Amino acid sequence: MTAVSDQQLATAAIAASQHAYIPYSRYAVGAALLAGDGTVYTGCNVESASFSPTICAERTALVKAVSEGRRNFTAVAVATRDGGSPCGVCRQLLYEFSPSMRVILTDLDGNVRLTTTLADLLPHGFGPFDLYAE
Ligand code: ZN
Repeated sequence: MTAVSDQQLATAAIAASQHAYIPYSRYAVGAALLAGDGTVYTGCNVESASFSPTICAERTALVKAVSEGRRNFTAVAVATRDGGSPCGVCRQLLYEFSPSMRVILTDLDGNVRLTTTLADLLPHGFGPFDLYAE
């Protein structure tokens, strides 16, 4: 396994953003999710004319990874024109699998705007352990 740097992950997220289907918002988002085994899964946002079926880049990457058997993630890079942060829905779904993962926010020029953790983005989050706590 070769270590993946934050900059490599950011670059993968930027490349993924170029596939965004965004006829309505024109807000391209790319995500690159680093699985515990070193595999990188990318995703872009995909919009719908009826809006609610729209899916974010982060969840696209996560669903790809989970559908291929991954459950543990160490980092996700998200690329937008302004270094935007994951929405609440994405924070919640990422939290389901790896609450302590690192989050790298970059603009589309590769300038990392923020490196943080999912736990910082979703403090006191609700996860699977809450359902089984006694
Ligand atoms: Zn989202």
